Amino acid sequence: MIIFKQTGPLSQYLQRQKNEGKTTGFVPTMGALHDGHLVLIKTSNKENDLTICSIFVNPSQFNNQDDLKKYPVTTEKDIELLITNGCHILFLPSVDEIYPPGHIKKQYALGDLENILEGKYRPGHFQGVCQVVDRLLQVVKPHILYLGQKDFQQCMVIKRLLQLTGKKKEIELKIEPTVREKDGLAMSSRNMRLTPLQKTNAAVIYQTLLQIKKNISTSSIKDVKNTATKKLTDAGFVVDYVEIVNADTLEPMEVENNSLAVIAASIGGIRLIDNMKLY
Ligand code: AMP
Repeated sequence: MIIFKQTGPLSQYLQRQKNEGKTTGFVPTMGALHDGHLVLIKTSNKENDLTICSIFVNPSQFNNQDDLKKYPVTTEKDIELLITNGCHILFLPSVDEIYPPGHIKKQYALGDLENILEGKYRPGHFQGVCQVVDRLLQVVKPHILYLGQKDFQQCMVIKRLLQLTGKKKEIELKIEPTVREKDGLAMSSRNMRLTPLQKTNAAVIYQTLLQIKKNISTSSIKDVKNTATKKLTDAGFVVDYVEIVNADTLEPMEVENNSLAVIAASIGGIRLIDNMKLY
């Protein structure tokens, strides 16, 4: 695996590879890698000649500075995992490399997508996501971009970003299913911060999603949401939202067709999100 820390040499290297007819898959991450990330790497490996992973803890997407400070960093272990899983190129930039001094941060017309659900609870988060992904895509220019369904709203935001920047035709977006622990907890770098007891309790998020899926056709949405919120609260969670939304627009919906259950809840100050398609 080749590690690049600067944008110029990475773009030049990738351009040479593409000129030779190689196809490229890109997996952007914030590191502290787990099987959720590694499935994306493996999928890209199967479908492309070269897989590029980036590790960059993007300050501009953290609305909470404490969350940024506590974000796990395990770079040495990440490098080993990437090598073992056949990643070809790692992009490991500094903050100055992504946002050079004097760089003016763009604003993206995300519409309501940045004001609802995660956007409401994390103001500015999706602008930060777009700033970094736009910059990374300009450097890597992959054929295929791999994202995880765990961050469903983020996938929709990046789909919008590709439209806004005119890259929709050049870059194919592939969204891979959420990888879970045996007990159903969605894998997340933030899980590393949970105590063993909190981690065991956190499986309730998945159980709640399953319960919503089971009850949605026989109970009212209001009852389903109230029962779900109680289940999470009883397990020690502070609930930001439990919503049943349209999977295309993320607007709350009244019918079960094409719906998605989304949950955001914190335990011990550690905020977790998950979702499940209900159709
Ligand atoms: P992150 O490092 O958390 O920014 O995630 C990098 C990429 O990995 C994003 O596209 C995430 O949606 C994806 N990802 C994170 N956790 C999982 C998971 N449990 N299953 C599938 N994809 C995931």
